[in-house]
Amino acid sequence: MTTDTTQEQECVFCSIIAGDLPSDTVYRDDQVIAIKDNNPQAPIHVLIITREHNLESLNDASRLDASLLGHALYTAAKVANQMGIAESGYRVVVNTGEKAGQSVPHLHLHVLGGRNLAWPPG
Ligand code: AMP
Ligand code: ZN
Repeated sequence: MTTDTTQEQECVFCSIIAGDLPSDTVYRDDQVIAIKDNNPQAPIHVLIITREHNLESLNDASRLDASLLGHALYTAAKVANQMGIAESGYRVVVNTGEKAGQSVPHLHLHVLGGRNLAWPPG
């Protein structure tokens, strides 16, 4: 999806990145920010959010985005380590589209841990 100013203005993650909405930020760099999910589904639930709004979901990714996607995944591992769940185990989830329950159309990864995570997921 192409970048649209109105979309960005209405996007909760863009508002957080712009500093217009509060968040509990645990990591930031020039490509992503990591914040605590405000409706946590596990004792540790962090979102790795790409700074730009240009990708609404994985479906919008092209080959040119491979580096950003790799960086987001690497950041998930780094944040899991920072949050103390790397050794016990954690799950990285990217809900994509309606049937997967994606509720915010701005690319993000969930990092979940701190409890036993059932498989298969619901
Ligand atoms: P998804 O449903 O995969 O699109 O994930 C969106 C996530 O964003 C959900 O887990 C929400 O709880 C979380 N979320 C929505 N608004 C906020 C917010 N203002 N601060 C932190 N997390 C949020
Ligand atoms: Zn956005």
